[in-house]
Amino acid sequence: MVIDLHNHTPLCNHAEGSPEAYVETALSQGVDIFGFADHAPMDFDPEYRMGFAQMEEYERTVRDLAERYKGRIEILLGYEVDYLPGHMDERVLHASVDYLIGSVHFLDGWGFDNPEFIGRYEGADLDEIWRRYFDAVAAMARSKLFDIVGHLDLIKVFNYRPRTDVRTLAEGALDAIAAVDMVLELNAAGWRKPVGEPYPSLDLLRMAHDRGIAITFASDAHKPEQVGYRRDELCTLAREAGYTRAASFRNRERRMHKI
Ligand code: ZN
Ligand code: FE
Ligand code: FE
Ligand code: ZN
Repeated sequence: MVIDLHNHTPLCNHAEGSPEAYVETALSQGVDIFGFADHAPMDFDPEYRMGFAQMEEYERTVRDLAERYKGRIEILLGYEVDYLPGHMDERVLHASVDYLIGSVHFLDGWGFDNPEFIGRYEGADLDEIWRRYFDAVAAMARSKLFDIVGHLDLIKVFNYRPRTDVRTLAEGALDAIAAVDMVLELNAAGWRKPVGEPYPSLDLLRMAHDRGIAITFASDAHKPEQVGYRRDELCTLAREAGYTRAASFRNRERRMHKI
């Protein structure tokens, strides 16, 4: 089974191409299960996401495509939701979707993966930043609000590395993810960023496998042509870490598939 659960639409204001074009690309690549998980609305950083009033349009568009492509490709509906205490909205958390991806993109209001604010890394204590990042991921897992962990080690995006071994820094987050049985995505977007490697690294993926954490696959496409980018390498990485199965969700129920 070829699975790809994390893809965007222009409703988030920083992606391009019609949702149909994403699906057509996936179809041409032999994807079996394709999911949209566009940035959910939030009262913080609203310019990089859809508004609450657009949720209906988004959900209708995806469900209509699912109906139209039935029998050829399974299309799922999800959201990528920011784990940001005080800004998570019930309308999103209780939306009638197949799954929710939980992502940490902000540390104390700092959008650390946004090139606009890259200056904050200079002269900062990188170990401290990485520690705070993985603490947030652990807290996200413990909140039990989400099904999938988005880009586990996103904090490496600009290649500002800590002195401490990343495995040590990530251990607590991985333990928390295992404890609540969340699924980890293998996300190709890192290959398109300065860091030049997928999320998570093979080291962290091995730790996830040791803990019995299930995985799924993610293009994190913001353009139709990014669908399936380096998918084979992502799959090889999964196998290298010992994985033979991957997860998808329907109505927030997990299903496992052979890969
Ligand atoms: Zn995005
Ligand atoms: Fe993200
Ligand atoms: Fe995304
Ligand atoms: Zn993402």
